[in-house]
Amino acid sequence: MKIVEAKVIVCCPGRNFVTLKITTDEGVYGIGDATLNGREKAVVSFLEDYLCPMLMGRDPQQIEDIWQYFYRGVYWRRGAVNMTAIAAVDTALWDIKAKLANMPLYQLLGGRSRDRILVYTHANGKDIPQTLEAVAKAKEAGYKAIRVQSGIPGVEKTYGVAKEGKNYEPADADLPSEEMWSSEKYLNFLPSLFAQVREQFGDDLHLLHDVHHRLSPIEAGRLGKELEPFHLFWMEDPTPAENQEAFKLIRQHTTTPLAVGEIFNTIHDCRELIQNQLIDYIRTSVVHAGGITSLRRIADLASLYQVRTGSHGATDLSPVCMGAALHFDYWVPNFGIQEHMPHQPIVDEVFPHAYRFDDGYFVPGDSVGHGVEIDEKLAAKYPYKRMCLPVNRLEDGTLWNW
Ligand SMILES: [Mg+2]
Repeated sequence: MKIVEAKVIVCCPGRNFVTLKITTDEGVYGIGDATLNGREKAVVSFLEDYLCPMLMGRDPQQIEDIWQYFYRGVYWRRGAVNMTAIAAVDTALWDIKAKLANMPLYQLLGGRSRDRILVYTHANGKDIPQTLEAVAKAKEAGYKAIRVQSGIPGVEKTYGVAKEGKNYEPADADLPSEEMWSSEKYLNFLPSLFAQVREQFGDDLHLLHDVHHRLSPIEAGRLGKELEPFHLFWMEDPTPAENQEAFKLIRQHTTTPLAVGEIFNTIHDCRELIQNQLIDYIRTSVVHAGGITSLRRIADLASLYQVRTGSHGATDLSPVCMGAALHFDYWVPNFGIQEHMPHQPIVDEVFPHAYRFDDGYFVPGDSVGHGVEIDEKLAAKYPYKRMCLPVNRLEDGTLWNW
């Protein structure tokens, strides 16, 4: 069996998605998500100019060898663009292999380790009353775990908070918009938000929060400590993870569980945090960390240290990634939770899928492969539009982490 076509499909049904479709000489095809929010065209070029021509004539069943060829075989390793492109190839090949085996992907991985997949969704508002309403709505929809973000008094635009009446979408402009940040105002405000959420909704609901890399290590230690009475499921990305030693400082000060890794690309980015038991959840995703092949290795390493998975699942990851992630989650023994930000209905139309939500949990469905398709005709009606993520500045104008 040979690969005879590898085609990149770019569409923008409300936001940009890049999809790789690999077809064999026997007519079997597989698809993989290749979306890198705000840098989509870089991955398109990487695939079209380099990886796709190298795939022609190869046996699609040799997933491991092809993964090694693109990772180990090249001089320039790692990096977001490179690993997203490799992930797209890998996901499409697993889809093909599962179709050839006439199995849903999770069966090929080793079968399911659980009956259903716990997911968390997002609730946000411009202030505490609006955020409490959003939490109530998510709870009514059946979610058992909710990420809570709120506007901060005195800070005009905050990460994770939607514009009035709209769903949250951070990539909001042709060129990056600018936001303002105050760690002091945030730190003084946040514990009161979680106190009110716990007071209104009780102890059973899982609560999560994303700091989005904004704090220094000692500030993150303070926040984790002050949030302890509200027993969060996790505090995410408290400080940038380039300096992984910094997490030792946070750990010394708090028992609030920590989740990191949505921007990591390889197992090497995760290694120090996992081996030193500095985190509780690893958030690497199928699409940005080199595909199923790579994610399995990360999860296996994490399992040695009681670290569980909690894959990134924002709306900038296409339903193709979500489908593959849910098969992975169904199998992975050390599963923790899966993020789920619902896509707009038009996105679900462009990417018909077998996975479904059922009372706070997901199941991947029993279609062969990963169970996600792309309607190419419909996708063609929504051409690419450049959309950038914002940048962030402190009140005095200093550029800060977004
Ligand atoms: Mg995050």
